[in-house]
Amino acid sequence: MGLTLRQTMARLLEQREMSALDLAAALLLTAREVEEHLPHLRQSLKHRLKVSPARCRACGYVFGGRRRLDAPGRCPRCRQEMVDGPWFRVLG
Ligand SMILES: [Zn+2]
Repeated sequence: MGLTLRQTMARLLEQREMSALDLAAALLLTAREVEEHLPHLRQSLKHRLKVSPARCRACGYVFGGRRRLDAPGRCPRCRQEMVDGPWFRVLG
């Protein structure tokens, strides 16, 4: 029996930390599609889904205390659109 998409996402994240872009590349989805699954994944995994906050590549700003799981578009500090992450990991 095959795994559902979300189960596959969870398996990948048990092996290593990945961003929505990483997951999209691995699963042949768009980042937006991955981002639509992430809240459901968080709902089923609860605290096992560890989120490392997004970071601005230009100035190093860290998007701490953010509840949303999608990637921020623009850095509030330097206004650049060079944001990496957030990254996700499933703890055993
Ligand atoms: Zn910045």
